[in-house]
Amino acid sequence: MLRITELKLPIDHPDEDLRPAIVQRLGIASDDLLDFTLFKRSYDARKKSSELCFIYTIDLNVRDEAAVLHTFADDRNVNVAPDVSYKPVGQAPADLQQRPIVVGFGPCGIFAGLLLAQMGFKPIILERGTEVRQRTKDTWGLWRKSVLNPESNVQFGEGGAGTFSDGKLYS
Ligand SMILES: Cc1cc2nc3c(=O)[nH]c(=O)nc-3n(C[C@H](O)[C@H](O)[C@H](O)COP(=O)(O)OP(=O)(O)OC[C@H]3O[C@@H](n4cnc5c(N)ncnc54)[C@H](O)[C@@H]3O)c2cc1C
Repeated sequence: MLRITELKLPIDHPDEDLRPAIVQRLGIASDDLLDFTLFKRSYDARKKSSELCFIYTIDLNVRDEAAVLHTFADDRNVNVAPDVSYKPVGQAPADLQQRPIVVGFGPCGIFAGLLLAQMGFKPIILERGTEVRQRTKDTWGLWRKSVLNPESNVQFGEGGAGTFSDGKLYS
């Protein structure tokens, strides 16, 4: 799989312009572009509004990958797509005797629990706070009515503090 970075298109371009833009960038026949997926799209808003554009990072398969790589050997924006798949660091033994304990069900605990489960370790997750529905009521109770429940609030409970973030968390 190949990756193109820094592919620029006008911000108002129709979706169907993406494929021809990739084909043109690579200088290949349209049929030779087998498939593509959008890895990342960002905005370039550094210039005046009439020049706003999208900048794409695209992963794609072509009929003759070696030939394309050869053509673009000196182009830092056309490369083999990096393998970013997660490689588990271990696997639980079939006769697992002891189960790991994860304390807290915030973003870190959720992710640790997920990975441990995927590796077969059957984690036990302990969470001191309440489930998310009750927690949301308690948290809004503080923010709207100034009533603090010291055991159920924005910090403690299912989802951790991340439950009330505006979504910038990345893993
Ligand atoms: C209002 C708010 C908005 C935020 N907005 C953003 C944002 O927009 N973007 C962003 O990136 N970050 C944001 N953050 C920060 C982000 O939420 C934290 O960085 C993130 O939640 C930390 O994750 P964590 O799993 O390490 O800890 P926490 O989310 O704090 O999770 C810890 C969990 O452990 C539990 N726990 C604690 N002690 C015990 C115990 N003794 N036994 C059992 N369980 C226990 C807690 O109840 C909690 O559920 C925000 C935080 C708050 C409070």
